[in-house]
Amino acid sequence: MSVAVVTGGSRGIGAAIAKRLAKDGYDVVINCASSVEKAENVAKECREFGVKAVAMQWDVSDHAACKQALDKIKEDMGVPYVLVNNAGITKDGLMVRMKEEQFDDVIRINLKGAYNMLQLCGSMMMRAKQGKIINISSVSGIAGNMGQINYCAAKAGLIGMTKTAAKELGTRGITVNAVAPGFIDTDMTAVLGDDIKEGAKKQIALGRFGKPEEIAAAVAFFASDEASFITGQTLVVDGGMI
Ligand code: NAP
Repeated sequence: MSVAVVTGGSRGIGAAIAKRLAKDGYDVVINCASSVEKAENVAKECREFGVKAVAMQWDVSDHAACKQALDKIKEDMGVPYVLVNNAGITKDGLMVRMKEEQFDDVIRINLKGAYNMLQLCGSMMMRAKQGKIINISSVSGIAGNMGQINYCAAKAGLIGMTKTAAKELGTRGITVNAVAPGFIDTDMTAVLGDDIKEGAKKQIALGRFGKPEEIAAAVAFFASDEASFITGQTLVVDGGMI
């Protein structure tokens, strides 16, 4: 059975992706930063599809921890066939008031974290001469968003990394694509005020926030053979917002 690694799989979009990939027949590794119990519950739900699923805690921004985790995954389950770089945080604030630490933390986790996994898992996949990498960017990285200069920089950076890695890994049979979600109902958007949410809905053609499963469907497509000749692309899944 092919192995899929989903970073930030304990909640929200990552949990939906892990469950969708399990449903599609992948053995799944569900990574989290701290909510191990939640990741264990997602793994349990994945196992109901008859696949192997394990929860693993490590910080994606720590290169050595990523290496240790991937070496263990390779030893226990095999070289990952699918990598989904989904782990991410927000630390919003207007640029003029943003603290250096707010900027650095978001870049370190959302961009450097994805790079760590991309570099380490990408080189394993190169030796295996196969693989599918999907990076979870954001419409904020394409259109910009007030109060999110750190997040927008990271998510735009992720699109640049997607295009570059696609060019570097393509001859080894590896595709690298990105999904750019709009507003999706998760813990990340639950913290937004009602006025912001209502204002956002007015900008969305479909008039509602997306569900995590709707992002998982796009990821499942990029992971599938149906997307075998697509690489370096970013698919916007935002209900018609940007
Ligand atoms: P979420 O509900 O806040 O979940 C974030 C996930 O990332 C959790 O599993 C969390 O683990 C994990 N994580 C955070 N820091 C980590 C680290 N250093 N190492 C490993 N894992 C870490 O977020 P979400 O809304 O599902 O978002 C998932 C991805 O989609 C993010 O990249 C986000 O930027 C992107 N996105 C979301 C939206 C949206 O509207 N929700 C829109 C566009 C893009 P713990 O549970 O252990 O904390």
